[in-house]
Amino acid sequence: KDYRNDIRPNWCPGCGHYGVQAAITDAVVAKNIPPEKLAVISGIGCSSRIGGYFYAYGAHTTHGRALPYAQGVKLANQDLEVIACSGDGDAFAIGMGHTIHAFKRNVNMTYIVMDNHVYGLTKGQASPRSDIGFVTKTTPRGAFETPLSVCETAIAAGATFVAQGYMINRAELVDLIQQAMDHEGFSFINVFSPCVTYNKHNSYDWFKEHLTALPEGYDPTDRAAAFKVLSETQGLVTGLLYRDNSRPSFEKAMADANGGPHPHPLTEDVVKPDQALFDSLCNQFK
Ligand code: SF4
Repeated sequence: KDYRNDIRPNWCPGCGHYGVQAAITDAVVAKNIPPEKLAVISGIGCSSRIGGYFYAYGAHTTHGRALPYAQGVKLANQDLEVIACSGDGDAFAIGMGHTIHAFKRNVNMTYIVMDNHVYGLTKGQASPRSDIGFVTKTTPRGAFETPLSVCETAIAAGATFVAQGYMINRAELVDLIQQAMDHEGFSFINVFSPCVTYNKHNSYDWFKEHLTALPEGYDPTDRAAAFKVLSETQGLVTGLLYRDNSRPSFEKAMADANGGPHPHPLTEDVVKPDQALFDSLCNQFK
């Protein structure tokens, strides 16, 4: 199946996001998901252009708001495979309120954050993921805030699937995305995706030197082990860090609470417009 439309990405040559796009494509092809069953929802940023490059349903939404849209899409049509994409600024700065609640809410969808430790679209400002000392237009003497530890935050907030990948390690990333789609609940993958234009510090060479793999025999169901390995590697580790299959997805919990499958919110059985109320409201504005 062809998931590429005829829009040419306008990412800079060498941008890591090309690799993320390729990995998502490989994963949906491997899982044989037809384009009409796929929705790619994105926020705002260089990374969030990605939704426009897929031949599938999608929405390029507002800054930091990919997740509310994506969760709404999934709840309205649970037959869709929903993937939301953001950058680290989109996800962990303006969108962090939504991100935290999505971690704990556990809607059955996948969230891929393309993490380059900088704002690219607005031409190079420090993000919540920027390293201490990183010189940008907004941190001319070097960033001095502690970078957000996103995987620890996700696990602590109640996320049931937390993974980290690197776009260069394509086979591992494709496998993680497939596992994320198989997981019954909210799956978060933080993907290192270098910005070659505005982040000369966290370069391809830097990631090659600093990223490590999970230790042999690592058990992703062991919550304490996840915190330990993230602490020991300062978060610079790739693989499936944590998975909790014991918690029901939001959809299942909601259905159980309501005594059966939740009805489709857009069907007439559910939405029964009160014509008299509607008319009286309209009359007030005449
Ligand atoms: Fe990629 Fe950075 Fe260019 Fe944006 S500015 S397209 S993140 S390399």
